[in-house]
Amino acid sequence: MNDTFLHKGKRKILVDYFREKIGISDENVLKAMNEVPRHLFLESIFEDYAYEDRAFPILAKQTISHPSTVAEQTELLQLKEKEKVLEIGTGSGYQTAVLVAMNALVYTIERQKELHNFAEKKLREMHLRPKFQSFGDGFAGLPTFAPFDKVLVTCGAEILPTELLRQLKVGGKMVIPLGKTDEQILYRFTKISETEFEKEEFGAYKFVPMLGNTNH
Ligand code: SAH
Repeated sequence: MNDTFLHKGKRKILVDYFREKIGISDENVLKAMNEVPRHLFLESIFEDYAYEDRAFPILAKQTISHPSTVAEQTELLQLKEKEKVLEIGTGSGYQTAVLVAMNALVYTIERQKELHNFAEKKLREMHLRPKFQSFGDGFAGLPTFAPFDKVLVTCGAEILPTELLRQLKVGGKMVIPLGKTDEQILYRFTKISETEFEKEEFGAYKFVPMLGNTNH
């Protein structure tokens, strides 16, 4: 698969839809999503639908999020260039690619070996280089590389992973869906001091669950 004028055209229409209908206003998010070819992260049978606002199955029974969810979560991060971002749930690597395209320094963790390997190969082929790609359990974060400016969790957690809040800088933000498997609420935590957090709520979503340990 390559990136044709047809793909580029469909991507532009999707990005216009984010701006006009979903209300995404961070031009850096829109620019990055206009650049990154989402179809290259999907199985070829889904290629024609890659620029519809739909989630698709990826390896290891996981899903690539709706592109509008990627846009919303990324906008909530209020990302600036060169900020250190920890992403939990590399999955296909698509969200990772969007963060790299925004010139963030990206550290990403995936617990499914197949997906870790897939995303590593894919991002290398596309010359989109995260700072570090880890096969491991996101509940532990990456203490060696902490503290982070931002943390983005792309799976739904039943319990708040407090270790990730610990690894945030003061002034940093974590975007995370929290709740049971059938539905989660998207939250943004802002670290006010080492012990105080502001918590904002952004509506209901359905993500794949955040699970402990790793799966070879
Ligand atoms: N950002 C991804 C979304 C993938 S779905 C994309 O753009 O494709 C969420 C991912 O979180 C899944 O791949 C799942 O395996 C992973 N995940 C779930 N629990 C995890 C954990 N504790 N640590 C790391 N990754 C986890």
